[in-house]
Amino acid sequence: MSAAKPSGTAPDERVPMVCGDCHRRFLALGEWQIRCRSCYHAWKASREAPASAAEVERLRAENTALREELAQAQNEVARWRRIAQTAPRKRAARTPPRKTPIPADQWRRIVQCCHPDRHGGSASAVEATRWLLENRP
Ligand SMILES: [Zn+2]
Repeated sequence: MSAAKPSGTAPDERVPMVCGDCHRRFLALGEWQIRCRSCYHAWKASREAPASAAEVERLRAENTALREELAQAQNEVARWRRIAQTAPRKRAARTPPRKTPIPADQWRRIVQCCHPDRHGGSASAVEATRWLLENRP
């Protein structure tokens, strides 16, 4: 059977239409396609533009807020760095030489009381015990 396709129908079954926007003839994929390809892209871009413009604006505002937050955090870091650099000198100057050492028997009781074994090996107990051992009377 060699049925010839009717003239005017495109070989890939496209439908000749007139674009609703530019009124030019074009081959549509179906009768549902009311705009030519270029008018469809222009229409789609105009529909999406307001939404994406709002999104761009929202992201710009968020970016500005985050940059301000970052600047504040960096200032905070710089401030703490300055404090950290000056702190050891301050502490050294503030700690007077001990004039009344802990009596040896008291020292022994304190070591027993804060021994890490009595405090589940806590970091505080370890640190306190180490200090006491370094400062044995
Ligand atoms: Zn068109």
